[in-house]
Amino acid sequence: MSDVIQLLPDHVANQIAAGEVVQRPASVVKELMENAIDAEAQTIKLIVKDAGKTLIQVIDDGNGMSPTDARLSFERHATSKIRSAEDLFQLHTKGFRGEALASIAAIAHVELKTKQIGDEVGTALVIEGSEISSQEVVVTPKGTSVSVKNLFFNIPARRNFLKSNSVELRHIIDEFHRVAMAHPGLSFSMYHNGSESFNLPVSNYRQRIVNIFGSKTNEKLVPVTEETEVVNISGFVGKPEFAKKTRGEQYFFVNHRFIKSPYLNHAIGAAFEGLLKQGTHPSYFLYLEVDPQTIDINIHPTKTEIKFDDEHTIYALLRSAVKHSLGQFNIAPVLDFDQDENLQTPYHLRNKPASAPGIEVDRNFNPFREETASRPKQQSSRFSKPAPQQWESLYVGLESKSSESSDNFSEVHFESDPETTSMFDDTQENLNNQSTYQLHNKYIVSPIKSGMLVIDQHRAHQRILYEDYLKNITIKEAVTQQLLFPLTMHFSKQEIAMISQLKEDLEAAGFIFDEVKNETVSVSGVPVGVSESEVSIILEALLRDVENDVPDTHFSAVDLLAKSIAKSLAIKTGQHLQKDEQEHLVNKLFACKEPNVSPTNKPTFITMSVDELDKKFI
Ligand code: ADP
Ligand code: MG
Repeated sequence: MSDVIQLLPDHVANQIAAGEVVQRPASVVKELMENAIDAEAQTIKLIVKDAGKTLIQVIDDGNGMSPTDARLSFERHATSKIRSAEDLFQLHTKGFRGEALASIAAIAHVELKTKQIGDEVGTALVIEGSEISSQEVVVTPKGTSVSVKNLFFNIPARRNFLKSNSVELRHIIDEFHRVAMAHPGLSFSMYHNGSESFNLPVSNYRQRIVNIFGSKTNEKLVPVTEETEVVNISGFVGKPEFAKKTRGEQYFFVNHRFIKSPYLNHAIGAAFEGLLKQGTHPSYFLYLEVDPQTIDINIHPTKTEIKFDDEHTIYALLRSAVKHSLGQFNIAPVLDFDQDENLQTPYHLRNKPASAPGIEVDRNFNPFREETASRPKQQSSRFSKPAPQQWESLYVGLESKSSESSDNFSEVHFESDPETTSMFDDTQENLNNQSTYQLHNKYIVSPIKSGMLVIDQHRAHQRILYEDYLKNITIKEAVTQQLLFPLTMHFSKQEIAMISQLKEDLEAAGFIFDEVKNETVSVSGVPVGVSESEVSIILEALLRDVENDVPDTHFSAVDLLAKSIAKSLAIKTGQHLQKDEQEHLVNKLFACKEPNVSPTNKPTFITMSVDELDKKFI
């Protein structure tokens, strides 16, 4: 048989290599910006059109390249940054693999203009699919400009694989932020479709973070510093009360490079232990400096994962540094048993003499009289039995309500009650009491003709709310509840941009916005059933959902909005439900168009027939 192995032509090898380095427009942004930093630029400008699908251009005022270097820079494994494998352990540059430009040129139309300091003229190159199609002498400022057009023009499958413009733009902004956050000493700007998205002047770390995430971020930051032999840690963590429902602002930088590390993320989680509400995630912006010899960056083509020689020590140091900062800034609860008791008295009461507490006695109270004996019941039913048409509001803020009702002894009378009520008080309410049962504050179990029904309370409620909101938004019949005082919330610029895009649909859902601009959103009306404290949770969750699944059409925006609100407001697993709340939930669920699945297509209930039960007893 003849030989079958062939060497792949360069342009094919480059295209294959490109797959590793360039997954999407944002990858190009990262590589070009990092090259500019390695070239010692002071000012870096990013210009993007159509979320990078049409154009990505990075202009720097760095060292530039000679005409020969300019040509060479597009060869694979062509780099000025390392000469031998040993250099890999002395890295002070972002790049070193010498494959970014070669990869990019294999899958896009690239134009390069570059000039070194002191040269009269510079070089312009045009490269298409790895082929240099022209090289000219040009007049150009010192530094380099690389334009990448029509990404993946020769790999239609990859191009089709790209997400919507908003998703791709989101990724680009993320990369831009990561690079900018790692280098506050350089100035960065970004333009999308002709308008300026960011302008970040030279500053310090704190200001850079604030410039990116909005002025309100400043008061949320707690500084962290720790200097040790192994690692120097600096940066900030967000105060626990500002922890987010979703992992958003979590950044590690190691030697000025953004990295992802679930392991170190865990260390931060451990430092915050006991300080966070369940299901929230702290923000952090932490900068680690280590000896380049003690890390391996070359374990991943995009260099976002690195290997530390001494990961465990870094984990421990990071945890204790963050813990220490949280404590120092009085954020952790202080347990100090030796405190002077006087210190605990509020100032305005300190010099007042103590007065005996007054006791009020209800002299008409007769524990044996019917109506007074049932008083606790009446009180609890005030909370648990609203008019059926307002049943949804039942679940809003249920937590506080159920604790209120336990203050009112609703759960205290079980010792004497059950027998008497079941024997003598055969009312409708009692019959209903038998029809549903809540299991582990998670499932609602109910007998049905054929056997037994088990409903997942969280999913079921999501389905109900989803259909309600979907209907309200689509027919624009949402009922708004005016707030007494407008609610002002702060978001970053790009979050504001997303909210503006969704504003119309949010209004159709019942929100009233007074203002959406700069970094502020002011809301004066919310959909009925949404409480004031939930507004920011809903908006935040919505923004995260939009980020992950950006709607292109009006319909999917509405759908996403309804899903997102439903998810935020649905009663949670672990929430105790009163009997009538359970029943309302069951009834409402089966009044839905698609009762059997949640908005995310998961089953809302299961049934088990008597036959199936019987079989289990054989
Ligand atoms: P790497 O960054 O890994 O060396 P690249 O393919 O990104 O590989 O770049 C190849 C080479 O091109 C770099 O080593 C550098 O010498 C040169 N180069 C790339 N971009 C620039 C720039 N903006 N300014 C100056 N030189 C650059
Ligand atoms: Mg590079």
